[in-house]
Amino acid sequence: MNFEELKLAPAIVKAVREEGYETPTAIQEQAIPLVMEGHDLLGGAQTGTGKTAAFMLPLLHRLSMSRSAQNKFGGTGIRALVLTPTRELAAQVEESARIYGKYLQLSSTVIFGGVGMNPQISKLKKGVDILVATPGRLLDLAQQGMLDLGQVQILVLDEADRMLDMGFIHDVKKVLALVPKEKQSLLFSATFSDEIRDLANGLLKNPQSVQV
Ligand code: AMP
Repeated sequence: MNFEELKLAPAIVKAVREEGYETPTAIQEQAIPLVMEGHDLLGGAQTGTGKTAAFMLPLLHRLSMSRSAQNKFGGTGIRALVLTPTRELAAQVEESARIYGKYLQLSSTVIFGGVGMNPQISKLKKGVDILVATPGRLLDLAQQGMLDLGQVQILVLDEADRMLDMGFIHDVKKVLALVPKEKQSLLFSATFSDEIRDLANGLLKNPQSVQV
């Protein structure tokens, strides 16, 4: 199996090749076709398995194939939202969106707590196609009316178990209430407690499961 066989847009394959990736990892081989087909996904994968590209490559592919959206401020509407437990992971995931999407006309940004809100607010008003965020700051900005999640088509919960361990379950649920019901949802977790299963059952519709 190689990246061409996955039928990802050539612009994405080119960027991936430039990263020096020869073949997809196990999680990528399993997850990419399912996400490209529009399925909801429950992914069991630790960090280091290539899980970021497993969701980011098909996410970029799908966005590149569909029309851009507009937010209520007249900027670009957010079509993909990725929630992560920590600022470090958020920054890393957003960097992946930039790297793998460098030959696509898509924009992305990252927002997290512990830094000033104003630069984040101006970026959100201008708008982005892909937003990567930690739940607390995202919710803060949403409650201030600075964030329009009404156009979200793809939602990713990355490292969902860590998100719950860190006490973000209420914030995550509040964010889920702000995105459209009709969307594609992907949930990645290294472990599967009852709480994760409940969260997955509430969010995912007829999910496909991949486990590495
Ligand atoms: P992740 O599990 O998403 O944190 O990725 C772990 C590391 O593997 C990252 O440094 C990626 O750049 C790298 N990586 C992801 N996919 C591949 C691949 N198909 N071939 C080689 N390296 C990869």
